[in-house]
Amino acid sequence: KSPVPSDIDVSQSLKLWSIRRIAQSIGIQDNELELHGDSRGRIKLDVLERLKNKPNGKYVLVTGINPTPFGEGKTTTSVGLSQSIGAHLNKKVFTCLRCPSRGPTFGIKGGAAGGGYSQVIPMETFNLDVPDIDAVAIANNLLSAAIDTRMFHERTQTNKGLFKRLCPADKKGERFFTKAMISRLTKLGIYKTNPNDLTKEEIADFVRLDLDPDTISWRRVVDVNDRFLRGITVGNGPKERGQIRSTGFDIAVASECMVILALSNSLHDMRERMGKIVVGMSKKGVPITAEDIGAAGAMTVLMKESLKPSLMQTLERTPVLVHAGPFANIAHGNSSIIADKIALKLVGEDGYVVTEAGFGADCGAEKFFNIKCRSSGLVPNCSVIVATARALKHHGGASLKECKETNVGALKRGVVNLVKHVENMKKFGVPVVVALNRFHTDTDEECDVILNAAKRAGAFDAVISDHFSKGGLGAVNLAKSVERACKQKSNFKFLYDLDQPIKKKIGIIAREIYGADGVDYLNNTNEKIEEYEKNGFGNLPICVAKTQYSFSHDAKLLGRPSGFRIPVQDIRASVGAGFVFPILGAISTMPGLPTRPAYYNVDVDEKGNILGLF
Ligand code: ADP
Ligand code: MG
Repeated sequence: KSPVPSDIDVSQSLKLWSIRRIAQSIGIQDNELELHGDSRGRIKLDVLERLKNKPNGKYVLVTGINPTPFGEGKTTTSVGLSQSIGAHLNKKVFTCLRCPSRGPTFGIKGGAAGGGYSQVIPMETFNLDVPDIDAVAIANNLLSAAIDTRMFHERTQTNKGLFKRLCPADKKGERFFTKAMISRLTKLGIYKTNPNDLTKEEIADFVRLDLDPDTISWRRVVDVNDRFLRGITVGNGPKERGQIRSTGFDIAVASECMVILALSNSLHDMRERMGKIVVGMSKKGVPITAEDIGAAGAMTVLMKESLKPSLMQTLERTPVLVHAGPFANIAHGNSSIIADKIALKLVGEDGYVVTEAGFGADCGAEKFFNIKCRSSGLVPNCSVIVATARALKHHGGASLKECKETNVGALKRGVVNLVKHVENMKKFGVPVVVALNRFHTDTDEECDVILNAAKRAGAFDAVISDHFSKGGLGAVNLAKSVERACKQKSNFKFLYDLDQPIKKKIGIIAREIYGADGVDYLNNTNEKIEEYEKNGFGNLPICVAKTQYSFSHDAKLLGRPSGFRIPVQDIRASVGAGFVFPILGAISTMPGLPTRPAYYNVDVDEKGNILGLF
């Protein structure tokens, strides 16, 4: 049995610092902090303006090997490493994490605030009070309502009637275009300063988006694992006049609005990306955007406050920014650019920002480099690959039950997974430190196998980390290695150029990162790729949607698979977010719940204390 108490017991055992005190400790001014309760505050973007001439701190990515379903401790290691840098090496530090979704919190996985003596506290606030996700959901659903409503009014009204209502005359009889209308008219090549100058034909083109209902890819979202919403029919009410269509819900963190929040560099950038969201095609095959529908401005307004990252603290009172939380398969699975940028300025030249990417490094880190860093312009200084003995034993053939027991044979076979990740990270020109996240059952011999394999594969360093059982003190060796790695020259480079064709870019990721022999394009993906390139989406980066358990598309191909080709089953574009995403298998965007979900344990006592979260 582990000697470490449960996460919630550790979390509640410590007296919090006020969030204002945390803010002061890292140089945030009072007028840059908005308090939300005692343990969370939002940081205003003004801080970026104030510190714009200050040099950035060192930028450290935490990623991992292909995990087991238990999770191998990327968040826990991010927090432990930061606690060590801040409270033991006495350097300025920030941890940047994603907002947890309440779907998994009440489903199978439980909380996402780290674990043991390396946690963000209070874990109740971290896991339950996630306003960014609520804002994403309402912005997303406003657009859903706007789509069906627009189709409804187009069906029931004449061109002239639509024009009069969309572009009403004021008392003097004058009509005005909104920003959204100007954008659409410009796109159609029929912009006129005076709306009354539009011809009958032009009005018809302008007012009818003529969305083809079969092409609508925009779905509604909710932050609950509600599998019965995966497929629904809308429009069954008596007043919708038979405008019925099949659609469905995704979990809120799968919304493109969440990706936009994570990838935006400013409010202006967020507004532009909202406008570019493609919701479907017109019957003539023209992409229809959120701007065309007229909802992009209002959606941005709903998400404006969310652009400010939330400040929290770790068990050792180092500062944390919690912000955004996009999926790691259909999206890039990294926390926000804005949070990283604010953190890098606040820690300054001698400080460190530790930011986590979801899934294994084949997805999370590849997308961090090729999508997030490309969008932000930031250059990473070091990447930390988190490895566990249990997952590597699983890669070497031990079952999920067996992999917790000592098994040097399985481990020796399974370390190839770590070796390939180290080789991959080196392709980006950034030094790699391997953090062996130690479980109390790991033997010294097992640890040596892992550290030696990592060093032979070319890691800058490989160290054992005991942050789960000892907090920051247990991660001092890791922190020192990271410090040394960050002094190396970073020769950071992207894996592919944006102006290469879509298939070329997918091929590079498949061969270089996954170790595949090639790519097969199934179903109608060839035609879709042609269409994307024709519509001007060909120069976007690639965000592969695939399993996190394997380098390949097949969760069962463990270790370091070879001799496989990856099948592109479908391909879609998140044009607002700014990437094309090939789908390599069934990807669930709405999780289900087991017979006994985590919510069974959750309750509250008379004093309002939350019980049973883990
Ligand atoms: P990830 O971010 O990679 O998904 P987490 O950091 O959330 O992983 O850890 C997954 C789970 O494993 C958490 O419940 C965490 O408390 C637990 N865990 C992580 N490291 C250890 C460790 N060294 N010993 C015991 N449990 C651990
Ligand atoms: Mg995590």
